[in-house]
Amino acid sequence: MGAMNPMDADGTAEAVAAPFAGTFPRTLPRALATEAVHAGREDLARLGVHAAPIDLSTTYPSYDTRAEAARIDEFAATGARPEGPPVYARLDNPTTARFETALARLEGAESAVAFASGMAALTAVLLVRSAMGLRHVVAVRPLYGCSDHLLNAGLLGTEVTWTDPAGIADAIRPDTGLVLVETPANPTLAEVDIAAVAHSCGSIPLLVDNTFATPVLQRPVEHGARLVLHSATKYLGGHGDVLGGVVACDEEFARGLRQVRFATGGVLHPMAGYLLLRGLSTLPVRVRAASATAADLARRLATDPRIARVHYPAIGGAMVSFEVYGDPHEVIAGVRLITPAVSLGSVDSLIQHPASISHRVVAEGDRRSAGVSDRLLRMSVGLEDVEDLWRDLTEALSARPGRAERSPESRTVPRPSPSTGR
Ligand SMILES: *Cc1c(COP(=O)(O)O)cnc(C)c1O
Repeated sequence: MGAMNPMDADGTAEAVAAPFAGTFPRTLPRALATEAVHAGREDLARLGVHAAPIDLSTTYPSYDTRAEAARIDEFAATGARPEGPPVYARLDNPTTARFETALARLEGAESAVAFASGMAALTAVLLVRSAMGLRHVVAVRPLYGCSDHLLNAGLLGTEVTWTDPAGIADAIRPDTGLVLVETPANPTLAEVDIAAVAHSCGSIPLLVDNTFATPVLQRPVEHGARLVLHSATKYLGGHGDVLGGVVACDEEFARGLRQVRFATGGVLHPMAGYLLLRGLSTLPVRVRAASATAADLARRLATDPRIARVHYPAIGGAMVSFEVYGDPHEVIAGVRLITPAVSLGSVDSLIQHPASISHRVVAEGDRRSAGVSDRLLRMSVGLEDVEDLWRDLTEALSARPGRAERSPESRTVPRPSPSTGR
């Protein structure tokens, strides 16, 4: 840092550089809300811009081929992010790197590596371990349907042992490369004690899929997880318009992930990197607001005679799942304000039937034994007013066959709610 660096004046540059030098502190250097809007953007004022620049280059010119060869050798040997321009866009991207820096900071991790989707991120983790001859995975159900499928079908040459948290230590073998849990889990919102599981794992890396909780509600690294996975498509993006995945971890594992990403090509597009960085800035506000509404809806559902069972995590969150006595397909057909769609974590509310959609790929018996009932509905609560959501939900729960066929004119139009002054 030169004397002319304006960031030196208030010591900000020091604070920014510190986490990446020597041992990494497991506590956040600044409050989460502050990191959410500043991490990955510390150099912007110095660059003379306010929004992060989007670098769409696929290649990076250089007249010095010897230097480029040395940089390529360095990446092949270490997997460290190259100093200076990335040679080629499959290797690294400055815009995406901002998102990676910011997400790592929010998760209290040393590094993060972004991918084209959550599934591409999980694939890279599995490949890093199987390239070391560690092809066995221990996993706890339920998991997101496609994660379950990827492991169960052994598509990447891995072999899975399914167990409950108490059985993890016994399921570990000499060739176990990874232990995988999701908490709260998709779609039952079942929770796992991360610290207890991390203890059972011993030296085997524990991957926690933190998609549902987000770092706002839970930072698995603080409880001993080595890897934190996100489908960034969900809360991190937050607006239902960007597909992405990311793994937060120590720099040593991150280097292996970057090498696999370079070799297999599951890179995040820089435009997606930009949108995810922007999404992070409102993440704490969005997650807290939607969680308050979800908790309220969970309380109302719990006393509703049409509902057999409500699933809502002890740590909170913006997802609510519930089992209905009636026909779940009629509830989906009956919503008007809530969107009947798979996915989650958007500003607007979504509802879906896991047995038909998100967990269709999981065999019926496996689905049932993981607690995914055919009567279960999964709702992702957005930022709408709670009274409007409740009215839509309660009308859909009373829906009789045929509501879906009504003409658009006769559809329920939500009235403005007095509490929001709309
Ligand atoms: C959606 C999801 C994934 C997969 O992420 P994509 O971005 O859709 O590839 C993984 N885990 C969980 C918990 C998810 O909800």
